[in-house]
Amino acid sequence: MKKRTADNVHKAYVEEAMDHGIWERSTTYQICTVCGYVADGGAPDSCPVCGADRPRFQGVD
Ligand SMILES: [Zn+2]
Repeated sequence: MKKRTADNVHKAYVEEAMDHGIWERSTTYQICTVCGYVADGGAPDSCPVCGADRPRFQGVD
């Protein structure tokens, strides 16, 4: 897991992912930077929750 400086928004996403219990697996996840939706194993063409485009997703280790 990469550490990002002064990125409280990103931190919130990470905490949410941990709450959902998905952080223990080794797959890379794609997080929607608009709504915080976490896609398992790869970014979708668009976010199923808020409809954000793929470039809006941010990969996390
Ligand atoms: Zn979204």
